[in-house]
Amino acid sequence: MSAPRWMPARVAEAVPSTAHARVLRLAVPGWPGNLPGQHLDVRLTAEDGYQAERSYSIASSGPGELVELAVDEVVDGEVSHYLVRVVEPGDAMEVKGPLGAYFVWDAGDPSPVQLVAGGSGIVPLLAMLRARVAGGVGGPFRLLYSVRSAADAMYRDEIDALASGDIEVTWAYTRAAPDGWGGRVGRLGPTEVAAATWPPDQKPLTYVCGPTGFVEAAADALVAAGHDPLRVRTERFGGR
Ligand SMILES: Cc1cc2nc3c(=O)[nH]c(=O)nc-3n(C[C@H](O)[C@H](O)[C@H](O)COP(=O)(O)OP(=O)(O)OC[C@H]3O[C@@H](n4cnc5c(N)ncnc54)[C@H](O)[C@@H]3O)c2cc1C
Repeated sequence: MSAPRWMPARVAEAVPSTAHARVLRLAVPGWPGNLPGQHLDVRLTAEDGYQAERSYSIASSGPGELVELAVDEVVDGEVSHYLVRVVEPGDAMEVKGPLGAYFVWDAGDPSPVQLVAGGSGIVPLLAMLRARVAGGVGGPFRLLYSVRSAADAMYRDEIDALASGDIEVTWAYTRAAPDGWGGRVGRLGPTEVAAATWPPDQKPLTYVCGPTGFVEAAADALVAAGHDPLRVRTERFGGR
């Protein structure tokens, strides 16, 4: 297979996801398709020739030339600000991908799957959930999704709809809980992670994604609880 090359892309749709995040659907002629969990690189070029490149996970998977990204604005962030606040349908950029062979879900694997997301870390995990629901194959899925508040949750309606099906969803709120929430508010610790995830004896395949500090804390908690480190796959988005 040839190495991915830069390909021209055009914004087909830009839809608000939260007050600080947008879902972008890019039309990429010749896109070869991607597996659930893969990412791509975006390259922006200014009129004066200045270029910036960043990685973004892909919320869609399978064949097709429409590629879905979801970008959360990072405070003072250069590229995320542009993608969330500035870019409009019709605008051009370049993408390179699909990238990443490790953080992918294989629908042929019957293992229980545990997804653990912090903030925008939901994006590649949503691709796995969508593939699981669309294909109707694979093992049972659980999602633990940590957000600052309900309003900060990307894809909230879609995830609520999945939770009413056969996907088990646990929300965690670090700053403010919705009205009527009886649970705790705060960052996930080992107790919360253990309570909301498959026990180690179920031998789940676990995917953890989000800001670096979140991923390290969640993965450490899982390994300390007895999970095989080789079955805890992580993807770090940067930041703290
Ligand atoms: C494989 C991969 C997949 C990714 N997928 C997504 C995705 O699906 N959606 C998404 O929104 N982002 C994703 N990211 C993060 C993304 O690549 C950028 O890092 C992010 O958009 C910030 O870029 P920026 O140019 O706005 O910020 P920059 O100008 O590069 O950085 C500004 C400041 O923000 C800090 N920072 C950088 N990234 C983050 C972060 N993620 N969280 C908190 N602080 C940060 C930096 O340390 C710096 O201080 C992914 C990263 C990787 C490596």
